[in-house]
Amino acid sequence: MSSSNPTDRKRIMLLVTPTSYRSGSFNAAAERLNIDVIHGIDLPKTLSREWDVPLGLDFSRPHESAAQIEQFVRDTPVDAILSVDDSASILAALANSRLGLPGNAPDAALAARDKHVMRNLLAEHGVPVPVFTGFNATKDEHEMSRAVRYPCVVKPTQLSGSRGVIRADNPQEFVAAVYRTRRVIENDGEILANATILVEDFIPGFEVALEGLMDAGDLQVLALFDKPDPLDGPFFEETIYVTPSRLANDVQEAIAECTKLAARALGLREGPVHAELRVNEDGPWILEIAGRSIGGLCSTILEFGTGLALEELILLQATGTTVRGMERRSDAVGVMMIPIPKGGVLRRVTGIAEAEAVPGITGIEITARLNHSIVPLPEGSSYLGFIFAKGSSPDQVEEALRQSHERLTFQISPEIRLRAVARSSR
Ligand code: ADP
Ligand code: CA
Repeated sequence: MSSSNPTDRKRIMLLVTPTSYRSGSFNAAAERLNIDVIHGIDLPKTLSREWDVPLGLDFSRPHESAAQIEQFVRDTPVDAILSVDDSASILAALANSRLGLPGNAPDAALAARDKHVMRNLLAEHGVPVPVFTGFNATKDEHEMSRAVRYPCVVKPTQLSGSRGVIRADNPQEFVAAVYRTRRVIENDGEILANATILVEDFIPGFEVALEGLMDAGDLQVLALFDKPDPLDGPFFEETIYVTPSRLANDVQEAIAECTKLAARALGLREGPVHAELRVNEDGPWILEIAGRSIGGLCSTILEFGTGLALEELILLQATGTTVRGMERRSDAVGVMMIPIPKGGVLRRVTGIAEAEAVPGITGIEITARLNHSIVPLPEGSSYLGFIFAKGSSPDQVEEALRQSHERLTFQISPEIRLRAVARSSR
């Protein structure tokens, strides 16, 4: 790749939000690789000025921000611009295309961020996806309930982490699900009249997640994860991820092939992809594919070649070094995203030492903050934390994660609603 950076040292721009789980891993990777990093941070203008942030951006205005980046790199050239998660994938694509840097086309990034656009593109290209219909979110729910078939899944088009994703087995459940999903959309700040509710056939089967790297439209599979907990609804919380997958080789190949078709259909040709699929007797079905790497702290369990992290692979590829043929180490690894059992205020977490002592457990990270409120699915958007494990077989890793989780106790007290208190004391 020709570099516009005059020094030998590579330089990348990482687009991050102040709360991103992912920036730490990318920063550490850049440091290990001796790559200079410039952060484009999603911040209100006043804060950028006050805190003297060299490149404060507004991710909700991608065109404006891309122009700002273009201006910035005139003085400080970079080899690549990357979003560490979904929050700036469109901005990264816009900026890369303005500057002629390699990356996904803005259209591809847009498609990967909107589930309805994605479904349309995938279906057009013959990629197996559930039968789906997009409705304006304000459409009469009873009319909608007569236009779909059951069981189905109701979901927003622009959220993630299973927020607002609800299974409905009949028209009554459907109507209730639509009400609930609408509230989730509104609470996220979107105007209902501009929003789409996507309804699709519920696809039964086993769920997997594929972590890969696209290179000129070819897919390199970095890891295929089994999600051994049944995900049958009505809500879909992510819990355990284990790799290597225990599925038969030919099934794994079909999953990779399906993911490659999906990435190409969207125009995701370069860089990381994270796909979620279901597999049943009809083969693999794409639930989702995004031009980003795995979320949360999950990537910390992956190691490649002589001990490279996933983020190192991504940065090497982005700065023009081939990582083809680089394989994940052969041990079994897994992670559990600890779900939120009920809403309230998280008061105390006990049993951490016991949970860490379970053989095979390599770490526990409680990410929820004590004395802060926690919200379960389908409204919530985070986990209590992560449990990491390593072992000689996927079964052993899965068992270790379950045993470790059982030893943790989360004390959650009911939330006192301040507004209600204020009103009643008047
Ligand atoms: P998000 O971006 O919020 O993760 P997804 O569309 O990936 O939304 O849905 C979240 C989860 O809900 C999936 O991982 C899967 O378990 C379940 N799910 C979503 N759509 C379907 C479907 N059509 N059939 C079966 N399960 C589904
Ligand atoms: Ca998903």
